[in-house]
Amino acid sequence: MKANVYHGARDVRVETVSDPVMKSDGDVILKITKSAICGSDLHFYRGNIPIDQGFVVGHEFMGVVEEAGKGVKNFKKGDKAVAPFWVSCGICSNCRNGYPTACTGGGGCFGFGEALGGFWGGQAEYVRIPFADTTLEKVPDESLDDSVIFLGDIFSTAYFCAEWGNIKPGNTVVVFGDGPLGLLATASAKLFGPSKIITVGHHDFRLDLAKKLGADHVINSKNGDHIEQIMNLTHGEGVNVALECIGSNQAVLDSIKVARPGGTISFIGFMVQELPIPMLDFYLKDLTFRGGVCPAKNYIRKLLPLIQNGKIDPTAVITHDLPLADTPRGYELMDSKAENAIKVVITP
Ligand SMILES: [Zn+2]
Ligand SMILES: [Zn+2]
Repeated sequence: MKANVYHGARDVRVETVSDPVMKSDGDVILKITKSAICGSDLHFYRGNIPIDQGFVVGHEFMGVVEEAGKGVKNFKKGDKAVAPFWVSCGICSNCRNGYPTACTGGGGCFGFGEALGGFWGGQAEYVRIPFADTTLEKVPDESLDDSVIFLGDIFSTAYFCAEWGNIKPGNTVVVFGDGPLGLLATASAKLFGPSKIITVGHHDFRLDLAKKLGADHVINSKNGDHIEQIMNLTHGEGVNVALECIGSNQAVLDSIKVARPGGTISFIGFMVQELPIPMLDFYLKDLTFRGGVCPAKNYIRKLLPLIQNGKIDPTAVITHDLPLADTPRGYELMDSKAENAIKVVITP
């Protein structure tokens, strides 16, 4: 099959690799109908997190069941399914407690190298899904791929960030980040009935989309002091909720600055650096700080109706739909933001 293979920093290539084969009765081979490039793929692309050379990457994908192992109960050939980015066994104590991304029974992340389980990813024609009954989630045959694929990662993650922000009706919310996650977190925050959403980024074309998705105000941090602007927009009080959607130490520190007393900071950015927290500010404002990796599996069925009922349209962030052979160009676009790229999806 053809697949997108990691070779080093800024070096991914679409090559012919061996077809995936069943390794256990619980496996499914999924024929990919749509995959995507995630912002977190840029970590290995930029060389921040080296992974194994020759590894098939991609952790945001969906498809139809090509082959189901004898032990698979919930899926048969032809079923349409979305994979969350994490493989989960469903029976270890972390899986049973609702934390499939902490699976200790053989789980791991698709497309992130041997260190995270060694599961080849979905920027490919086919992928092996271990523990298919618990890892995969079925979606209705009539679902449009572009609408539901992000349930496996960025929409679920963005919604999770808003949910963990504990937004109450009438609250003020700031979203840090104008990437696909920040944009979908803006749209998700809107569902909780805040009085004001302020989205902070540094690309006007993305902030324009943030406005369409629900931001009442947008701030381009290249134009003046964004902290001062947030404080002005909240009459000097600060926000009830800050959503950190970048994975940036500075955005976490900014969140602490702009949160009003009793506020909540929710973060889902992929934090790869250590961060000293100004604990006295935190202490004196009685803040709540929560976040982490989204247990996306838990959100696929929960969020599907929001798409079906038109409450949210995750396709809004798609700017490019490329054939599999052009996946390396998709990485270049997501990395450089050339052609006003926001989210690149891949059709094998
Ligand atoms: Zn991702
Ligand atoms: Zn498990």
